[in-house]
Amino acid sequence: MQIIIDPNASVCPGVRRAIRRAEEALKTRSLTSVGDIIHNREEVRRLEQRGLQTVEQERVVKGTVDVSGRHLFIRSHGVGEKILQRLTEGAASVTDGTCPRVRRIHRLVRGYAEKGYQILIVGKVRHPEVIGISQECPGRQVVIEKEEDLDSIDRTQKSLLVAQTTIGRRLFEKMQKRIHALVEELCVVDTLCEELDKRYQTIIDFARSVDVVLLVGGRQSSNTNVLYQLCKQVNAHSYLIEKAAEIDPHWLSDAERIGITGSASTPRWQLDAVKFSFGNNVQKGVLNKKED
Ligand code: SF4
Repeated sequence: MQIIIDPNASVCPGVRRAIRRAEEALKTRSLTSVGDIIHNREEVRRLEQRGLQTVEQERVVKGTVDVSGRHLFIRSHGVGEKILQRLTEGAASVTDGTCPRVRRIHRLVRGYAEKGYQILIVGKVRHPEVIGISQECPGRQVVIEKEEDLDSIDRTQKSLLVAQTTIGRRLFEKMQKRIHALVEELCVVDTLCEELDKRYQTIIDFARSVDVVLLVGGRQSSNTNVLYQLCKQVNAHSYLIEKAAEIDPHWLSDAERIGITGSASTPRWQLDAVKFSFGNNVQKGVLNKKED
């Protein structure tokens, strides 16, 4: 049995930057992240052991939790400019881990909203990145997650269409076609993350090259779910796990080549940990099953 780690699996530049900034700050002080710093429970736990705390973003924005005097951390998904200003005023310090690509979307929608445009965002309504973008254009945005959401568009308004960076090209292009047919004056800016575009092809190639795919990532991560669906399309023996303990030895029976890969929010240490487990529990499990 060969265990292969996907050579193209790595955290995206935005998440890498955010984690580095948090680690740097944690060397000298405890840090409070506004929302989960990353959609990956195992990585969050690792950072918590170094002094990271997390408060729900919704509660911070509503003011139902007091974060004044704390050292705050803004995750790669970002928050709206006004919220950031408010937090900065009360906090001991604010470390901004917002991905520069997300920050560019903020500037873009703010500018168009000021010019009176309706802002159409293809993305998940409850995703923190979409919430942050919406905070830049309050009252002017429509989030399009599914077909029914198209009914909420004011067809008479000039509109800007953007995407949550991780939503996946297929959904964005499908919605773009529909919206073109509805809205006369439409400006489209493709804000999908280019890093992920490249990654979609490499993970498909990797999934095709192995018998079983173990995709390591957070279940609540949008990007992990998009990558998982891509793997499933080309390799039916694809499984999404958060850690090695979730591997069912039945998945691996008769497999010669087992591929371990990850999403844009899966650090390398998690892939190594899954590979390492094959020298311990999983492989023993497979052997036991064969002996049954
Ligand atoms: S997926 Fe792209 S946009 Fe999102 S944090 Fe990573 S680099 Fe930034």
